[in-house]
Amino acid sequence: MNSTTAAFVSTLTSASTEARGETKAMAIPNSWKGKIDAAATTAWPLDQVEALFNLPFNDLIHQAQSVHREHHDANKVQLSTLLSIKTGGCSEDCGYCPQAARYSTGVENEALMEVADVVAAAKLAKQNGASRFCMGAAWRGPKQRDLDPVLDMVREVKALGLETCCTLGMLKDGQAEQLKSAGLDYYNHNLDTAPTFYGEIVTTRDYQDRLDTLDRVRGSGINVCCGGIVGMGESRQDRAGLIAQLASMEPQPESVPINYLVQVEGTPLYEKMSGPDAINAIDWTEFVRTIAVARITMPRSFVRLSAGRETMNEATQAMCFLAGANSIFYGEKLLTTGNPDVSNDRALFEKLGITPL
Ligand code: SF4
Repeated sequence: MNSTTAAFVSTLTSASTEARGETKAMAIPNSWKGKIDAAATTAWPLDQVEALFNLPFNDLIHQAQSVHREHHDANKVQLSTLLSIKTGGCSEDCGYCPQAARYSTGVENEALMEVADVVAAAKLAKQNGASRFCMGAAWRGPKQRDLDPVLDMVREVKALGLETCCTLGMLKDGQAEQLKSAGLDYYNHNLDTAPTFYGEIVTTRDYQDRLDTLDRVRGSGINVCCGGIVGMGESRQDRAGLIAQLASMEPQPESVPINYLVQVEGTPLYEKMSGPDAINAIDWTEFVRTIAVARITMPRSFVRLSAGRETMNEATQAMCFLAGANSIFYGEKLLTTGNPDVSNDRALFEKLGITPL
């Protein structure tokens, strides 16, 4: 962890006892203008990120769309396809995840796919318009015998002319360099949530483990894909804490997936969010706010509307694009949960005048 990140962990931890979720309207102070302009290289304190969350909705969306247009084509969206190359049986205890071996979710364990089958899926994704192909494996982290075939997959998918991305769990020293040499463009490793809420979600790896893997990825020269999940029962302050962490990385992640919790029966978070003592999940406005704050604080990053999109109607997805989302997962299945049909996505893009990047 770099010193800036360390300082933020400290700041966020000490802020954890402060009042949570308070809503107050305010305008962006003039003194922040430079902050927004220089956001890609400047740390974002928690209180400033919270203040963005607390803006009136229309002011927030206007700011986000303005920042978006300064740095991106407002009518282009990048398409990624995600393939689960090794499914289920994971030793970790992430409370949202149907692939954790300890939860009974009906997910069938599957061995690592053959390289040829992965390449065939990547060809299909490319035919359907994807520019990036992401390969996800349900591991705590890859052993060398696991990594070797994945390196072959990366080489062959890259040779198709696609950008390559992997999400394989925690990386040990030297593994990121091997992936880089094979041609990996992006490595996904999410922070999941703020340090203040993290212990409610995962206990088998700590926040520092995640930051260490991200440092290894960054150090190898691979682009960083790092985001989190909202709607897990966290407070607005926790959501702001997640964004403050991400936005304060130097450099900021090139890709920032914002996921909306997909509640899968059998996972602890399903019980928490759907059982008799259910905590209310966030509504669509709060999700759109999270996208908008990510856009303002990370102006050059691609903000990806990720898991949970199938639960959103077209209007909510359109609001997310207006708030600065400019990347989606595209394809039938998102690891083990559903994703909108390709035909539905094409129809929505047509209505909105959006074209793939
Ligand atoms: S999110 Fe990843 S590390 Fe956590 S249980 Fe699921 S597959 Fe394992």
